[in-house]
Amino acid sequence: MTIISKLPNVKTTIFTVMSQLATEHNALNLSQGFPDFNGPQDLLDRVSHHMTIGHNQYAPMTGVPELRQAIAGKINALYGAEVDVDQEITVTSGATDALFTAIATIVNPGDEVIVFDPAYDCYEPAIDLAGGKTIHIPMKSPDFAIDWQQVRESINANTRAIILNSPHNPSGTTLSTADIQALQAIVDDFDIYLISDEVYEHIVFDGEPHLSLLRYPDLAARAFVISSFGKTYHVTGWKIAYCIAPKEMSAEFRKVHQYVSFCTVSPMQYALAEFLGSSPHHLELSDFYQAKRDRFRAGLEGSRFTLLPCAGTYFQMVDYSEISELPDMELAHKLTVDEGIASIPVSVFYAKPPKQTVLRFCFAKSDETLDQATELLRAI
Ligand code: PMP
Ligand code: GLN
Repeated sequence: MTIISKLPNVKTTIFTVMSQLATEHNALNLSQGFPDFNGPQDLLDRVSHHMTIGHNQYAPMTGVPELRQAIAGKINALYGAEVDVDQEITVTSGATDALFTAIATIVNPGDEVIVFDPAYDCYEPAIDLAGGKTIHIPMKSPDFAIDWQQVRESINANTRAIILNSPHNPSGTTLSTADIQALQAIVDDFDIYLISDEVYEHIVFDGEPHLSLLRYPDLAARAFVISSFGKTYHVTGWKIAYCIAPKEMSAEFRKVHQYVSFCTVSPMQYALAEFLGSSPHHLELSDFYQAKRDRFRAGLEGSRFTLLPCAGTYFQMVDYSEISELPDMELAHKLTVDEGIASIPVSVFYAKPPKQTVLRFCFAKSDETLDQATELLRAI
């Protein structure tokens, strides 16, 4: 029997491919985005505590109430939004689950969903599985800005949603006030949903605020806003995230969620609830990663890589046109095998890769790893 693939064009993700290659060749792994240091000890201790006292059975389908309460408090403090704890917040198994579920909730066969290339890789397969069509709008070079005129021109009767991602992986750009205004004008004219991937909400540099869609009632009224504790607490392997949406949208989201995963790992939720309420960790994250960004950038001075701007996330893009004419996939492979450093080729995030020579490095690494990495890169 042969399976007729529902995702004939999908291969193993670039994150798995590059991390495996890095392991095989014992290379420094600045490819897949994850820290090489541990989460806060206090948070880890709280997980052990909750396991020991017996918080090891199914959590409520929508998430542990204490955690939803803590999330609502944070959102109110940061974005001034009043979110209903019981009806508008759903805890999920990672942002990947939340994104898949949000897409499955609203996309019907034939619907179109707009994404901006370079786009994070899990959006399109979820749209495909729902029978939808992904409309790729390239971000403009050289600054990876969104062409709102093109967005407007791409909208038609089939357009169901726009997926936004700010701070943006892989480019490190963030939405500006002008972007928000352009988006507001669009939703004023067209009846479409927004899916806002804000997993890097707490990693925004140079004193800029994060423009969460939750700050804007007209946008929040039609948005699934998604964040992930994996990024914020250096625990990407926990796969705990949440989705915030108005109550009717959340109700439909939950119908899907309860049959995708039903609920999410319990002791971590209790631990996160306490930690979120008691520690300002998330407020300190921008400074923490800004120092790493600056260290990595300073370390690349004098190299033949050209640094692109980085306003948020823990990714730095670099142009390598002075070094090689190889396609980025080949160069990323070669640097891993021959030079001992792994990165992510940016072309994989495009439907139609432009002529560009750009790699992405993850700087969520210890200072020692960053120094070793920049020493290697300066010698290339
Ligand atoms: N969206 C973006 C932009 C990401 O970079 C990631 C993962 N790093 C995710 C979603 C998925 O997050 P999670 O690991 O919580 O599933
Ligand atoms: N989001 C991470 C990155 O961009 C990877 C997550 C994954 O491996 N699926 O590197």
